[in-house]
Amino acid sequence: MTKMLRQRRARKFTTVLAASLIASMAWTAAAQAADCPREGTLGTSRVLSVDAASSPRIGLKSFPQTLPLDDHEVVLTFDDGPWPPTTPLVLAALAHECVRATFFLIGKPASEHPELVRRIAAEGHTIGHHTWLHRSLMRIPPSETSEEIDRGIAADEMALRGVATTIPSTPFFRFPGFETTPATLELLQSRGIVVFGTDLWASDWNKMTPKQELKLITDRLKIARKGIILFHDPKAQTAAMLPAFLRYLRDNDYRVVHVVPASPGVGGVPQPRNHLEKSDNSDN
Ligand SMILES: [Zn+2]
Repeated sequence: MTKMLRQRRARKFTTVLAASLIASMAWTAAAQAADCPREGTLGTSRVLSVDAASSPRIGLKSFPQTLPLDDHEVVLTFDDGPWPPTTPLVLAALAHECVRATFFLIGKPASEHPELVRRIAAEGHTIGHHTWLHRSLMRIPPSETSEEIDRGIAADEMALRGVATTIPSTPFFRFPGFETTPATLELLQSRGIVVFGTDLWASDWNKMTPKQELKLITDRLKIARKGIILFHDPKAQTAAMLPAFLRYLRDNDYRVVHVVPASPGVGGVPQPRNHLEKSDNSDN
């Protein structure tokens, strides 16, 4: 065998190995999510209903009010997915600890990876919306803001339940870069959509090692003691850090709260399934 052929075969083997590893991780995550609650895991301590009438805008980084969380309660949120290389790793870490989170999806990748969107929902997580292309709603012409919001919602809903509606099943929205305008805030409030800011973040848009990110977010949490936490599931450093962060929460008596809509939109909220169909894994 020539050297080149050997290298090519080795590369092919590595690709096949990586693909089967990710497929088996997806299966394990699904099996673990179905097997919750499970002893010895962090778990989800309670479910909190959020509605636009009483909480139109939440998150202390942007607004004066936030969720009514008790000391040592956190809500985990992940923005900018779905992203096939890393979202499955995040899902696996959450399933391993029986924790439910909220994912604010960008419409375009949602339309490109619908199986992954359905898998996030099937594993019991909440799906919120984060525009179509992640353009700043502060910087684009006001005439384009509605289109950017609605196209994102419709893409997420199409991926989730095959209906391209602009009425979200879960009326939760987060502005790209938290860049709001009075007109778009007004628009979302008039449509009964809760605007999620955040209380603290891991600054994971900055490049750092998983270890540095873990220290940063746990140091911030020690000061805040509770709150909505923002991560980005497309970030490899965050996906790599998450298992250690969840262990930290478990070992330090934090409790995870799962946020859900108080009143589901038209079509209802898709119910988590106990097992995943084969097609749910095909997008990994
Ligand atoms: Zn974002």
